[in-house]
Amino acid sequence: MRIHHLNCGTTRPLGGRLVSGAARPPVFARQVCHCLLVETDDGLVLVDTGFGLADTARPERLSRRFRLYARPVLDPDETAVRQVARLGYSADDVRHIVLTHLDVDHAGGLGDFPNAKVHVSAAELDAARRPRTAQERFRYHAVQWAHGPDWVPHSAGGEDWFGFSAVRDLPGLPPSILLVPLAGHTPGHVGVVVDRGGDTGGGSRRWLVHAGDAYFNHRQMERAPSCPPFLALFQSLLQADRTTRLRNLARLNALALSGEADVFCAHDEYELDRASRATGALAQPVADV
Ligand SMILES: [Zn+2]
Repeated sequence: MRIHHLNCGTTRPLGGRLVSGAARPPVFARQVCHCLLVETDDGLVLVDTGFGLADTARPERLSRRFRLYARPVLDPDETAVRQVARLGYSADDVRHIVLTHLDVDHAGGLGDFPNAKVHVSAAELDAARRPRTAQERFRYHAVQWAHGPDWVPHSAGGEDWFGFSAVRDLPGLPPSILLVPLAGHTPGHVGVVVDRGGDTGGGSRRWLVHAGDAYFNHRQMERAPSCPPFLALFQSLLQADRTTRLRNLARLNALALSGEADVFCAHDEYELDRASRATGALAQPVADV
């Protein structure tokens, strides 16, 4: 099983080090949309989609408020479908998409893979289709799934995976890909776990966890966790359920420190570079604007 780490959307939010935690860049931070492309025996599996070609062609698909604070670069060459093509595949080779959640910066590329089955938690799909709060109406952009994806909703599992209630045996997917509930950021947010088996190479751990937006900065996974102040505020403003989010954050931190799994989140450029180096791939180019 070969795994590619892709950046499917750069954003440049105002705040510099107050967002990134790094000394540079000074004014606008740089964030990524960290997606996975997994080559399996039965086609490609894409984990999260970032922004899509339609978003880059018509930025107004993304709300004005989102564009103001995130400042997405919207480079067509960063879209998943363009990167899939550069790897020598077609869009139809992506048989399955697994989403951590349906926020605008995770679901934008769905329309570029209209024939893929789209796995998502049932709670997330319900919240996105029937937004009940002002926050849900702001975060979900129905235009991104107006083409009618082939949804495969999943309910919470029951099988224990390092203390998480995992969903295994997703229809059509190899048993090495599973979901773990990580609600809090959104109502039905999940983590996507890939079992790399024994042949991980490069000293990697067996388990790879895409934690989506369950956290935003790699320092939140350290033994003495910390978070740049703007990011901490941002996480609080966008959370659907604070108690659940903080509980899952603590469990993820314990998992990362246990040495059992390589854990990464969706938007930390440092983690994307680290993962790309570990797989022997060059870091994905990040648009420099
Ligand atoms: Zn996000």
